[in-house]
Amino acid sequence: MSAEWEIGPACPSCKEPWLRPTSLPGRYRCVSCLHRFELLSVCADCGEHGTIVRMSTTAMTLCNHCGASMLAEV
Ligand SMILES: [Zn+2]
Ligand SMILES: [Zn+2]
Repeated sequence: MSAEWEIGPACPSCKEPWLRPTSLPGRYRCVSCLHRFELLSVCADCGEHGTIVRMSTTAMTLCNHCGASMLAEV
């Protein structure tokens, strides 16, 4: 884990670690570029099902199989 995880998940759009959970489960918004993302339940790269922990503020946003981002822009 990089130090960025102590700040927050990195935004797939602007690469800044400013993703924040919204009031909607599984939805995140980047406070840097204001893009919105949805946490996918299946990895777009390898098809592996993710284990989504939605009660945490720093939920896993990377596929634990291939490390790809599980976030899709909304
Ligand atoms: Zn961003
Ligand atoms: Zn994957």
